[in-house]
Amino acid sequence: MGSSSGISRLRVADAHCDSATVLSPYELAFGCGQRHIDLPRLADGAVLQFMAFFLGRQQGDAAWRSLRQHWRELLFAVALSGRVEVLHDPGQAGLGNKVQLVAALEGADLLDGAPERLDELYMMGFRSLGVFWNNDNAFGCGAAAEGAADRGLSAEGRRLLRRAAGSGWVIDLAHASRRSFWQAAELGLQPLFVSHSCCDALCRHRRNLTDEQLAAIGQSGGLAGIALVPDFLRDDGECSIADVVRHILHAVEVAGIDTVAIGSDFDGVDALPQGIAGHQSLPLVARELLRAGLREDEVRKVMGENLLAFLRRRNGE
Ligand SMILES: [Zn+2]
Repeated sequence: MGSSSGISRLRVADAHCDSATVLSPYELAFGCGQRHIDLPRLADGAVLQFMAFFLGRQQGDAAWRSLRQHWRELLFAVALSGRVEVLHDPGQAGLGNKVQLVAALEGADLLDGAPERLDELYMMGFRSLGVFWNNDNAFGCGAAAEGAADRGLSAEGRRLLRRAAGSGWVIDLAHASRRSFWQAAELGLQPLFVSHSCCDALCRHRRNLTDEQLAAIGQSGGLAGIALVPDFLRDDGECSIADVVRHILHAVEVAGIDTVAIGSDFDGVDALPQGIAGHQSLPLVARELLRAGLREDEVRKVMGENLLAFLRRRNGE
């Protein structure tokens, strides 16, 4: 985007999408207008994109077969495209000439409660571990567990987090229950990372972050990705880019300007906020952030630089 109302050569980095397990490799490689992300669109405007693999509650061999199939399809799409690559070393985030894809697991149910199986995923190329989707699993409670039902992390969950932190994983606490989040925070293993949520103070939702959580993420040197999910943005779900801006500004105020990023959830939701059609619309969010009073360098941080810096500093930069 080069117009006077926007920011030229915006370097977009997005902490979450579901495209890898939703699109065929051909749709991903060559483009598909109806969906939210494809590799041609990423090659046009992105620097880095998390690609989450969501397999529902599948466990055992069926889950692993399905994971490996999606993984082969992603590698096939990457080869067909020629303009993107899978990022193996988060310390290289934002460097290099190709758009970088970070492979992420969303929900560790397929580990069948065995932290050791993480190593197989790492060898495949996965680097981000979402321990939970909404349901409970062997590692503890996901976001669906509220109040007295929220038992937090299990002993296996703590073992999993220690193992992941010790072997270079980026641990993603999106979809964790409140108690699981705080227990993970107390372990103090690494900066806190929540890839795709919004602000509970603006829209009460079990998937959103309270101000206390946002502040803790900021204090840890972590990162909070703001999701473009209508149900997280407004109680009535009738939202626009203005609501995305509202949530980003609130998160910046509470967590700090270096802590907030985009975690779109593209291809993980049926509807997006009005005015957003997919990845190609992200420069519009940048333009509205400028209009709302952020400086250009601050907008660049939120739209990509914060996520890149977070990945690099985890590696001791
Ligand atoms: Zn999700």
